[in-house]
Amino acid sequence: VKDFGIEKSLKNLGIKDENKGTSTGGKFFASGKTIESYSPADGRLIGKVKLSGEKDYDRVMESAQKAFLEFRTMPAPKRGEIVRQLGQKLREYKDDLGKLVSYEMGKSLQEGLGEVQEMIDICDFAVGLSRQLHGYTMHSERPGHRMYEQYHPLGIVSIITAFNFPVAVWAWNTALAWICGNVTIWKPSEKTPLCAVACQNIMNEVLKENNLPEGISSVMVADHEIGQKLVDDKRVALVSFTGSTRVGRMVSSKVAERFGKSILELGGNNAIIISKDADLDMSIIGAVFGAVGTAGQRCTSTRRLIIHESVYDEVKNRLAKAYGQLKIGNPLDENMHVGPLIDVEAVNQYELAIEKCKAEGGKFVVEGEVLEGKEYESGCYVKPCIAEVENSFEIVQHETFAPILYLIKYSTLEEAIAIQNDVPQGLSSAIMTQNLREAELFLSHAGSDCGIANVNIGTSGAEIGGAFGGEKETGGGRESGSDVWKYYMRRQTNTINYTASLPLAQGIKFDL
Ligand code: NAD
Repeated sequence: VKDFGIEKSLKNLGIKDENKGTSTGGKFFASGKTIESYSPADGRLIGKVKLSGEKDYDRVMESAQKAFLEFRTMPAPKRGEIVRQLGQKLREYKDDLGKLVSYEMGKSLQEGLGEVQEMIDICDFAVGLSRQLHGYTMHSERPGHRMYEQYHPLGIVSIITAFNFPVAVWAWNTALAWICGNVTIWKPSEKTPLCAVACQNIMNEVLKENNLPEGISSVMVADHEIGQKLVDDKRVALVSFTGSTRVGRMVSSKVAERFGKSILELGGNNAIIISKDADLDMSIIGAVFGAVGTAGQRCTSTRRLIIHESVYDEVKNRLAKAYGQLKIGNPLDENMHVGPLIDVEAVNQYELAIEKCKAEGGKFVVEGEVLEGKEYESGCYVKPCIAEVENSFEIVQHETFAPILYLIKYSTLEEAIAIQNDVPQGLSSAIMTQNLREAELFLSHAGSDCGIANVNIGTSGAEIGGAFGGEKETGGGRESGSDVWKYYMRRQTNTINYTASLPLAQGIKFDL
């Protein structure tokens, strides 16, 4: 079996055959059961991880509470310096971590490296931001008074993440949470436990080199029970949850019940509208990458193409041709376009979706298939497929985390926009057009209802500088750039009276 240098990378990242899943910044410990992490690329056992148990949970929580009292008093630019050092370490470990992401999760090496680059980018962004946590000042209606607002840290931020971005989502959250003065507890997906251990190892170096107390950055590699505890725990001020709508719905109501804060980043059902005025060369590339990149396992993956009737047949034929050229295989092999799905359960979901689509009347232009034989021993490789459907099909309304692309025909742009919006999710959307009127209508208040709306680029892949997230069943949360940092702080309005009298607001008189 070709190794692609993975053994060396595992060693550099401190991953052993047997690992422990809990750390508060120092040594790892764990009292839970042991799980095994297999690569979907070649089916090999990468390593074992002993999960965090109940006992570890209390230790982590107490350590975080204590650390917060100290960390919140550190000036924000000094916290920014810690984040700068994390970014620097990530540059040093980029190749190794990118490779591990690719090997444990199954996305292509390029995408694995891209994910680590996103971590570096958000660190850079957060460093600058650490000197810009601005509040407004406003004029008081009362003489001799000053009003302003400021932002204070929240406390403990728990970050619960999905398997498909096993390292970047942690960094998006944690870099912002820290410069804002919070401490973080990360519960990664149990499907990518070693990526989390590797990140914590890198972070632990930074914490140690700066003599920082334990509890500022903790990880608990654990199953959903520990996730549930974090959701229910009053000591957790903010739960940042990335995952399925099914679990997110529960997280949302549980956190709201105890008046906690949450950021929800849930499923998408993203579409590209290909207009009669589209540049078709660009449209095909955007659509194919959007649909088959990360084997259709991005929250922003392109699931639906809404195509103008005048170019429908041409787009369909060109897509079928492009799909015929896709190379499917080991994601560490840079000649491949498409890697595996995360596990055999995901393969079952893919097959089920194809079956349902057919039962509802879907017509497959490119047939799907589970791949077998040499190179595909892990059982996780599937063929990307394309079906002609109606938007109203139950299966089309649903996010299937696999490379299945649905084609839908339209005649007017208003109709296309209505189709694009007519799903429960609202994450990413795009229009391919060279017509200014069409582009502006799509972006207007009568246009896309998604958190992300693009013109002449696809739905997948976002820059860290913008606020990332979506509406409706996608959860309404925002992560990453713009003014998203405000989610990680509590807002306070301050009024100061510097006179010797006490005028009341709204001109109220209260004479004693
Ligand atoms: P998932 O919902 O199965 O799991 C996500 C995380 O939640 C895991 O860490 C899991 O252990 C944890 N969890 C499960 N049950 C829990 C519970 N009861 N309480 C607390 N935590 C619990 O999702 P997944 O299969 O890992 O990821 C795929 C999904 O994530 C897709 O729907 C995808 O669209 C979504 N996603 C969304 C975004 C976004 O930014 N909108 C980004 C990445 C992934």
